[in-house]
Amino acid sequence: MQRAKDRLAVLGGHLGTKDEHGEDEVTVLERQLTLAGLGGTTPEFEFAQNMTVFPQAKHDVLGLDGLLTAEEREVRDRVRAFAEKEIAPVIYPFWERAEFPFELVPGFQRLGIGGGTVKGYGCQGLSMLACAMAGIELARVDGSCSTFYLVHTFLATLTIGLLGSEEQKQELLPGLGNFKTVGCWALTEPSNGSDASALTTTARRVQGGWVLNGRKRWIGNAPWCDVAVIWARNQESSAVNAFIVRCKENPGYSAKKMENKIALRCVQNGDITLKECFVPDSDRIPGVTGFGDTNKVLALSRVMVAWQPVGLAMGAYDMAARYLSQRQQFGAPLASFQLMQEKLQRMLSTVQAMWLMAWRLTKLCEAGTMTHEQASLCKAWTTLRGREVVALGRELLGGNGILAEFLVAKHFCDLEAYFSYEGTYEINALVAGRGATGISAIKPPRRGAVQGWGTPSRAPRSSPSGFVAFDEVQAFLQMAEQAIRVRTQTTEALSKELESARTEQQRVEATSSAAQEESSFLAEEMQGLMNERGSLKEALEKAQREREYLASENALLRQELLDGAALSEESSAVLQLLARQAEDLRASQQRVMQLENENVQLHARVSALERANAAQSTAMLSCLEESERVRLQQLSLGWESPVGPLGAMGTRRSEFTDDSSAGGGRDGGGYALGDAAELASEAGSFHSCLTPLGSATGSGPAGGSIFHSGSADSSPEQQQQQQQQQVAAAAQRQRPPTPNAK
Ligand SMILES: Cc1cc2nc3c(=O)[nH]c(=O)nc-3n(C[C@H](O)[C@H](O)[C@H](O)COP(=O)(O)OP(=O)(O)OC[C@H]3O[C@@H](n4cnc5c(N)ncnc54)[C@H](O)[C@@H]3O)c2cc1C
Repeated sequence: MQRAKDRLAVLGGHLGTKDEHGEDEVTVLERQLTLAGLGGTTPEFEFAQNMTVFPQAKHDVLGLDGLLTAEEREVRDRVRAFAEKEIAPVIYPFWERAEFPFELVPGFQRLGIGGGTVKGYGCQGLSMLACAMAGIELARVDGSCSTFYLVHTFLATLTIGLLGSEEQKQELLPGLGNFKTVGCWALTEPSNGSDASALTTTARRVQGGWVLNGRKRWIGNAPWCDVAVIWARNQESSAVNAFIVRCKENPGYSAKKMENKIALRCVQNGDITLKECFVPDSDRIPGVTGFGDTNKVLALSRVMVAWQPVGLAMGAYDMAARYLSQRQQFGAPLASFQLMQEKLQRMLSTVQAMWLMAWRLTKLCEAGTMTHEQASLCKAWTTLRGREVVALGRELLGGNGILAEFLVAKHFCDLEAYFSYEGTYEINALVAGRGATGISAIKPPRRGAVQGWGTPSRAPRSSPSGFVAFDEVQAFLQMAEQAIRVRTQTTEALSKELESARTEQQRVEATSSAAQEESSFLAEEMQGLMNERGSLKEALEKAQREREYLASENALLRQELLDGAALSEESSAVLQLLARQAEDLRASQQRVMQLENENVQLHARVSALERANAAQSTAMLSCLEESERVRLQQLSLGWESPVGPLGAMGTRRSEFTDDSSAGGGRDGGGYALGDAAELASEAGSFHSCLTPLGSATGSGPAGGSIFHSGSADSSPEQQQQQQQQQVAAAAQRQRPPTPNAK
């Protein structure tokens, strides 16, 4: 650094010229070198940095950054970098000289923020909050740059984007969207500031267009811009209309820069004169039919203006925080003093509250629910609090607090413009007050400014002579004149009011017819919706019925499933049972077959026995016949017996022959006896068949009658009876068993 200074001293010997501010080139070079070398300090004051090296952002202690989207954060960071690196190092000399920094315009073009929220036509279509972030980052470093951006973007470009014709948009928006062309927006007049709707600039209908006449005041960018949006009263309808004027080509347009401002000194505000300024039909903005349309634009730009004091306050805080840490007094940094800390924290908390309030307003605006009263409330409050913050910053920096290069003084001045434009603090407070009370206090109450003036309180007194005294007549005349003057003023005021009422009426009529159209359209829409609703309702009911039916079906199916499960258990038990029964059945069948076999065998045996029996009976009959024949022989020989055995047997004989299956008759008996002998080998033996009879007789003569029964000493009747019993018992024994007996 010392070597550089020595070299400069040498150079100084060669260069002696002074610049327009009276500084020689060496001094200027030395200043620039010092600024570059020491980073924002000067040899005159090297104890704290000025704004050329911008302080770091320290104001977001509550992490409000988290309320931004990625896009909004990206825009914020992009604009912050531009403002800190390109605007901060150069801006305060421009501010001091009240010049616009044209050299920064290419930087604005690169930023890509000129179209604001307008979509298409080369514009960026940013969110309101992203635009607000761009606005406050510019304001944090320089209020004038922020205002340049807002007038161009949120007044001129927005009006064309919102209310312009398709042709106007296509022609103008691409240039406006990237700052290739710059616009201004002219509403305020010398005679109408707060009462802007009473504007007097006129638009007269002529062949092929309109002729504008009047004056505008305070119009930002007006002295050098390309396009002006001019608000004028249509002489035919008295409604407020808007026109596009190509400033550099139109001889009817002239703008003179306003001098000696203490705020926003870089912004070139102009007094515009419109003198027979011709505007073609194609440059009338078709979307504007009354002052209500002006308000549409103002409502959006007011949100942006509500943010601007936040930006200034953020910058003032960041600067004050750094300054207090660098500057030392009484052997300690200013930051260590309690009073300094109290002021610093007051700045900080207010900055955060302002940011939050403006953020909420923007969110309401983005949601389309913001009211004029809410916008005014916020704009009034942020400008009021912003004033406090920059004033505190100005206090904290001591003497440097009134130097532009230490930022806070510049911000202190710039905030005054924010306080008064886009509706003064008072007007916005009154709009917010109207919202709070429901009573508008903006226009004066219609009290008779002339009441008590109009009518003389008494008639001139007559003199006793009957003549009116001269002085009284004089006074009466003066009063009458006064009354006439006041009446005339009142009449003028009333006719003005009448005119504005007519204008308002026309506007209301236009609005009402549009509203009627809208309403009939809505009614149709509504009808359509109702119909749709009806059919939807029917469909819904049907669906509900179907649902209920399906639910009942479902319940049934579920029940059936449960039953099925139970049935399947039952059926498996039944199957097991059936299997057991089948097993039993098989066993029974086997048993039946066995029994049948046995039965068959028994049958065979029975029939064998029957045959044996029959044979035996036949044999017995033969025996009896033989015995009868013997007895008859005996009788014939003289051995007479009253009742012979054959007689007793005669009745029985038929029974034996009848029962015999081998055929009856005496002849058959011989055969049967032989047959019985044969059968005896099957069913036992013939002998065994006769044995019981033989044995029943006890002992008898060998080879004698087999029917010997009873003792030898029993009577013949007894013997015959015994024989009969024996035969019956034998027959009984030989009878096959009945099936039931089994
Ligand atoms: C730097 C700057 C840039 C501007 N840029 C533009 C621009 O680009 N385009 C544009 O059209 N205009 C612009 N304006 C104009 C701005 O909008 C007006 O200055 C503002 O509307 C106030 O009007 P006025 O200055 O005529 O004040 P006035 O209306 O005369 O008001 C003077 C004072 O009276 C108060 N007052 C007025 N009426 C009432 C009331 N009913 N009740 C209580 N108090 C009241 C005001 O609040 C104020 O304190 C700009 C102004 C400034 C300072």
